[in-house]
Amino acid sequence: VADLTAFQSWIAGAAAELAAAADHLGELDRAIGDGDHGTNMARGFGRSAALAKEEDFASIDAYLKKVGMTLVSTVGGASGPLYGTFFLRFAGPMAATEDAGVHAFAQSLHAGVDGIVARGKAEVGDKTMYDALAPALEAFDDANAEGASLADCLRAAADAAAAGRDATEPLVARKGRASYLGERSAGHVDPGASSAAILLETAARTLG
Ligand code: ADP
Ligand code: MG
Ligand code: MG
Repeated sequence: VADLTAFQSWIAGAAAELAAAADHLGELDRAIGDGDHGTNMARGFGRSAALAKEEDFASIDAYLKKVGMTLVSTVGGASGPLYGTFFLRFAGPMAATEDAGVHAFAQSLHAGVDGIVARGKAEVGDKTMYDALAPALEAFDDANAEGASLADCLRAAADAAAAGRDATEPLVARKGRASYLGERSAGHVDPGASSAAILLETAARTLG
């Protein structure tokens, strides 16, 4: 299922995984950025996970909108507004949905990823979080077109995100701080693609 409790488990699981990966994400960002991606994500998702304990939410979309606003105001950097926008836009199609099925989820995933692109203007191959998210979205759609369950669509999406993350290693960054390094950004996995893969892996384990 993907009801309010499941979405809260997703955010709680993401917070735990990102906290556990904070040093690794920081190292990746130290290589091609300013080293703060791990602490940024652990802080933002930690605050977001705390929301469920502080407040009763009436709906999935009210909850995810608050998560989005919390990420915008607490993650900071380039990734805060991007992940914040993802959840704010993701929430939209969930209005009036109490238990999201694969179709509602597909619409939300599209809206969220479109929001990241609208804000960050990244294209595939720019060595950003979008290099994990774009193949994840495609894999989700392909599985959905074959009639797969939400759980199976999310598994396909998480696996594709991990492959997309790995594929950022040889790329030269064309967006964000890493792009300042030019050719020297090649040979390192992108930190944002790594955090995006964590978010999808956690989704596959908590939703569906
Ligand atoms: P900052 O670079 O401001 O310190 P973070 O370290 O938190 O912010 O996030 C860096 C990540 O943000 C990068 O690894 C990349 O994946 C992502 N990113 C940066 N700029 C863009 C963009 N324009 N579109 C998509 N993702 C981006
Ligand atoms: Mg950084
Ligand atoms: Mg920074």
